[in-house]
Amino acid sequence: MPSKDTTAALDETSLRTYGFSDPLPDASLIADLVVANHILFDQGVVDAFGHISVRHDKRPDRFFLARNMAPGQVTAADVLEFTLDGDAVNLNGRRAYLERFIHGELFRARPDVRSIVHSHSPSILPLAISKTTRLRAVCHMAGFIGQQAPLFEIREHAGEATDILISDAKLGRALAQCCGDNNIVLMRGHGSTVVADSIPVAVYRAIYAEMNARYQCEALRLGEVEYLTEAESQACVRNIEAQWHRPWALWKEQATARRQS
Ligand SMILES: [Zn+2]
Repeated sequence: MPSKDTTAALDETSLRTYGFSDPLPDASLIADLVVANHILFDQGVVDAFGHISVRHDKRPDRFFLARNMAPGQVTAADVLEFTLDGDAVNLNGRRAYLERFIHGELFRARPDVRSIVHSHSPSILPLAISKTTRLRAVCHMAGFIGQQAPLFEIREHAGEATDILISDAKLGRALAQCCGDNNIVLMRGHGSTVVADSIPVAVYRAIYAEMNARYQCEALRLGEVEYLTEAESQACVRNIEAQWHRPWALWKEQATARRQS
């Protein structure tokens, strides 16, 4: 059963109870992070695995990420505050995600990034496995993907006997380097990570990257595929992604209604 939504009562007292340090984050940042976890589960981007983070609004060298648990069940009490090295300041005996280094090292490498989604979403996986076909923007909702998403090969950094996870800072740095200035990086045999300048846009990109991957794979089965040009991709980001408020309001309302009972 999904957890009850606890974000409605978020205030300074509750933020202190949860162990966040001074200066405290804006309560709305934590509330949005909680609902973003629920949206990503509801929309099929994450299942029991996968996670979303947000950079601290008052301390750029800190970020927030749920404790090691299924995203669909996250409450504000489950949110941990991390240093960029991946150390939690309010762990209190709880377990952190093994792959928190994805978030810390991308936040370190990309000062423009404020939110990150890591997932193993089902339609992107084939494109993180194929030796010949890469994820590319094929539809107007996903111009942020651009001409070709980079693919991270963990074997180049950690050999041929890993569990494929980004489980330390060295691998996190390697992933961030592979991502470069892109908005999404695929991870061979694993999934993908998207970055954005806010929680709603990170959620938007994670959802539409998954849809774009499905459309691309279905179109490839029909034959030759027409991809967006670079100019089309950029125009789509400017004119369509900029309307993120509309889907965010819908997804948020649905996620909140599902957890009210
Ligand atoms: Zn993963």
